[in-house]
Amino acid sequence: MEGSGLSGDYSANYAVNDHFTKKSKTLLPSTMPIVILIAWIVVGGIVGDSLAKLRGNREGLVIGAILGPLGWLAILSRSDTRQRCPACLGVVPDGAKKCMHCAETLPLPPFAIVQCPSCHMEYSVPESFLGQKFKCDRCGKMFRAKAVLLVT
Ligand SMILES: [Zn+2]
Ligand SMILES: [Zn+2]
Repeated sequence: MEGSGLSGDYSANYAVNDHFTKKSKTLLPSTMPIVILIAWIVVGGIVGDSLAKLRGNREGLVIGAILGPLGWLAILSRSDTRQRCPACLGVVPDGAKKCMHCAETLPLPPFAIVQCPSCHMEYSVPESFLGQKFKCDRCGKMFRAKAVLLVT
């Protein structure tokens, strides 16, 4: 039939045109995602790095650069597992024998990770410290030290 042959040709032409318009549309704004991507990596990395440093972690630059704001949240939700002096709760370097803040003798591992029930701040304390009253240096509330994790 003549009619069916014509309609077949038309649909073939439409398909070709459609293909070209789609191609030219994707070519024009192709530099924009690259600019956004670079900004994402730079901003994400810088913010992630500074957030992680506050918490004593080092991988913030990579996490922030890849995940952006999601990475920042992941960094912030990580627990603060830096070693702390049981007397003054000051952060002390790993393996230090004396507190540099109050000169208290620091315990050797095993440590227990305890969590403030009010603000959920986590601290590493000596195992012998468990069951004792403890003052949170973030919210100021007193709580009884209960291990959520043992570090040996
Ligand atoms: Zn101290
Ligand atoms: Zn607290």
